Parts: sequence; C-alpha cells; structure tokens
Amino acid sequence: MNNLNELKHLLASPKRIAINPHLRPDGDAMGSSLGLWNYLQQKGHSASVVVPTAVPDYLEWMPGAQQAVVGEMQPDEAKRLIAEADIVFCLDYGVLNRSGVLEPWLRASSAVKVHIDHHLDFENFAQFEFRDTAASSTCELIYRFIQTVDPSAIGNITEACATCLYTGVMTDTGSFRFDTATAAVHQTIAALINRGVEVSRVHQNVFNSFTEGRTRFLGHVLSERLRVLPDLHTAYMTISQADMKRYGVHVSDTEGIVNYALGIRGINFGVIMIEHPDQVKLSFRSVGSFSANAFAAQFNGGGHFHAAGGQSQLSLAETETRFLALLQPQAQALDYQPV
Ligand code: 5GP
Ligand code: MN
Repeated sequence: MNNLNELKHLLASPKRIAINPHLRPDGDAMGSSLGLWNYLQQKGHSASVVVPTAVPDYLEWMPGAQQAVVGEMQPDEAKRLIAEADIVFCLDYGVLNRSGVLEPWLRASSAVKVHIDHHLDFENFAQFEFRDTAASSTCELIYRFIQTVDPSAIGNITEACATCLYTGVMTDTGSFRFDTATAAVHQTIAALINRGVEVSRVHQNVFNSFTEGRTRFLGHVLSERLRVLPDLHTAYMTISQADMKRYGVHVSDTEGIVNYALGIRGINFGVIMIEHPDQVKLSFRSVGSFSANAFAAQFNGGGHFHAAGGQSQLSLAETETRFLALLQPQAQALDYQPV
C-alpha cells in the first residue's frame, strides 16, 4: 500500500471525481461506489458514479442510485465524466477489463487513479492502491479508507453512506455468515447501524423484492436445471436464454441462485452457467480447500478463493461439456470434508 498522504492532500480541496465499479454490479460494487459517492458529495466534491452496465432492479433503491450514469446506455456522458475527472476511483475489481465499456476511457484518462479492491486478481494501473484480499468486501475497505484519509469524518458519516456500505458488506458476506465476517467486520457493522441504517429495510429491499416470475423461475431451475454429481462433490445448473424468457426474468435475476448448489450435503463445489446473447457466464462457489478462483482462471476469469466467475465463447452445451472435462481430473481435490 502506498502513502496516502498525497491523496489526502488532493482531497483537501474540491475535485471532479468519477467512481466506477465492475460490470453487472452487485451489492458490494454498488454499495462501495454509492457509499463513497455520498461521502465525497458531502465533502463538497463534484462526484459521479459511472457504472459499465445497468444497476440491477434489486439495488435501485440505494441512496444515490438514480444519479448513476450507465456506460452502455449513456456512453457520451460516461466518457466525458471519466475524461474530465481529476480523480478516478476504481472499485471492487482487480483487473481493468472488468470495467467493461469503460476500459478504454479509463486507460486513456490522465486522472489520478485510486484502486480500492479485495479480489485476488490484480492489475497495476493506479497511482494509489488500497487493497486487501482478506477484506470481506470493498464496502469494508471504503469504511477503512475514510477512516484513514479523514479520521474525524468516520463517526459522522450520513445514514445514506452507512446504508450503502452496510448493503455491500451484507451481500458479500452472505448476510454475515462467511468467515470473512470477522469480529472487526461486525464492529464496523455496529458503527454503521449507529449511523442510522435501517437493517430490516435493507434486507427487505435486497432479498424480498423478487417478481413472481423470478420465484417461479428459481423453482424451475432447482427442479429441472440442477445436476448433482455426488462422486465429484459438485452440483451445477445451466440456464438458457429460453429459460429466462419463459419466466420473464433477466440475467440479474440469476444472482444468488448458484448458492443453492452448496446447500446440498456433501457438495463442495457449486456452479451456474448462464447463456447470454454473446457468451456464457459462469459463477463458481466452493467451500473448504478447493479454489474457485483457480478453476475460474480456466474460463478466463477470477475473483476470490471461494467465489469466482468466468466466461466462455462456446455454446451452453459445449461449455457444459468443457466444464465436465475440466472437472473430472479434480475429483481428488474435491473429495474432502468441509471445514
Ligand atoms: P459472480 O459469480 O457473483 O458473478 O462473481 C463472483 C466473484 O468473482 C465476484 O467477486 C466477481 O467480481 C468475480 N468475477 C465474476 N466474474 C468474473 C470474471 O469474468 N472475471 C474476473 N476476473 N472476476 C470475475
Ligand atoms: Mn466485492
């Protein structure tokens, strides 16, 4: 980690700031971007959040989400905000190609870049790094970042900022049940709640806001699209465009479904393959000593040890065949008792 004093100095006077998370943003990506946005706005900076792809429906309620500029939908505005920024914050991704359509504009930008992230994959593109691969979430890092550069502000962050940060820690820790939800993280959460977070409202907004179609779609996936391979301790699902069309759901409605695979006794590896118009996206979840991140690297992806993603240019059926071929030699690595 570099000396942040220089950055602290830069932030002492009003700046034009662009904040961007990874494409197909999740709760941590939106929470960290909007949490930082709320803080910087309050400090008198002219900040904007530029998202590569649309904010998913279940996160639209977040304070500041309406202001976000979507790169795929408003390319001129997104490009301008990045080009005119004095400082660009890149949040919740390790490598620049995770910023989707924003990547060329970020590479061309002469702004001071600040990279705040907790992923294992890493590209050196920023003047300032604030990274910790052991952190529960980028939202936890935003909290630590504010504590570091502006210690007197942390006790006074707004309810809006606290709500955004709470949301990302909650979603990235599986509602505080992963090992990354340490005592220190719970202390941060307590501090955020003290700033006014309405905990049950956040949970209600994120988890109890599905359409009827999404709930029936989940039933369909679990009954018709789940394959369990007991000998390989693996369960996986394949979802076609036709499946999603039938239930009127979108790709963002598939968020979280992969976790059902790990709910089966004896399963240490859960996978979901989702057909997009131009590629197949894969999500990997593991428990114990099997690295989802290493497996994802075979699909041009990465992430965390226990949660990673990748993509394939093959058809859905061919991707499944390739996945099974890569899985077979892993039989021994997958045969362990979960800790
Ligand atoms: P998810 O499976 O929920 O999309 O992603 C799980 C984790 O892996 C997230 O932290 C996400 O940022 C990361 N991830 C997902 N897809 C990719 C990918 O294609 N490339 C890389 N490098 N990381 C990914
Ligand atoms: Mn994250």
